[in-house]
Amino acid sequence: GWQGAMNKRTRIITVANQKGGVGKTTTAINLATALAAIGEKVLIADLDPQGNASTGLGIDRQARLLSSYDVLTGRSTIADAAMETAVPGLSIIPSTLDLLGIEMEISEAPDRVLKLRRALREAEDSPYSYVLVDCPPSLNLLTLNAMAAADSVLVPLQCEFFALEGLSQLLETVEQIKGSINPSLTIQGIVLTMFDRRNNLANQVVEDVRAHMGDAVYETVIPRNVRVSEAPSYGKPAILYDLKCSGSQAYLQLASEVIRRERRLRAA
Ligand code: ADP
Ligand code: MG
Repeated sequence: GWQGAMNKRTRIITVANQKGGVGKTTTAINLATALAAIGEKVLIADLDPQGNASTGLGIDRQARLLSSYDVLTGRSTIADAAMETAVPGLSIIPSTLDLLGIEMEISEAPDRVLKLRRALREAEDSPYSYVLVDCPPSLNLLTLNAMAAADSVLVPLQCEFFALEGLSQLLETVEQIKGSINPSLTIQGIVLTMFDRRNNLANQVVEDVRAHMGDAVYETVIPRNVRVSEAPSYGKPAILYDLKCSGSQAYLQLASEVIRRERRLRAA
């Protein structure tokens, strides 16, 4: 990890894919909840103006007094903007629609890509062992900030025909950030989401992605599961809404793979 990043134990994982609807937010929320459930202190930074992670964790819009916008523009510290959620051990820096204007606001600043990284570095006494950053569906300045601040990037890919489309562009962007401002950035892994085993095409997609991306792909595949899609409307992670459903169980399994990989990355 990079020196001075929150405390030295803090691992920052950015959940990114420039495609919308592939399971970024669902993965961020449920992975964070799974990590919190085993006693880790976890923070989600919601960097999507749509604020689905904030809503999905039951944070009402009126309750969002400080947000990721305030953190990125230096108006608030991480500690002040973080709100507790109904999940013990899980906090969130919520997003507000202010984020829609941030690109314009900071685009001229020489440190425009380093705003999140700076804020996280200032939070040296942070209690968090994991920070998960939920990105918007775009390779914009917000996503670049998330990559510049991260130890690793976790990429959800939906099990559909065009799953791999756009992945090379995403990986190139990671390489650019790695080659410039964040040399220790790595790929945490690629997680296949919304898998439907009755669908032959989905099985083919899993094989193709494994053939192309090899070990980067987690063994865990997240099934399409109606309980997972219902949970956000109750302001709860699926793991809290229905722990026993196949989707929740898959996210618990993903969490153990993520931890195993983080331990290996930390040791390297
Ligand atoms: P993104 O953040 O990449 O835009 P989301 O996590 O919001 O994607 O997921 C897109 C939609 O798919 C949401 O309505 C979500 O509830 C649903 N969804 C995500 N994962 C699953 C799953 N495993 N099973 C069923 N629905 C899912
Ligand atoms: Mg999202």
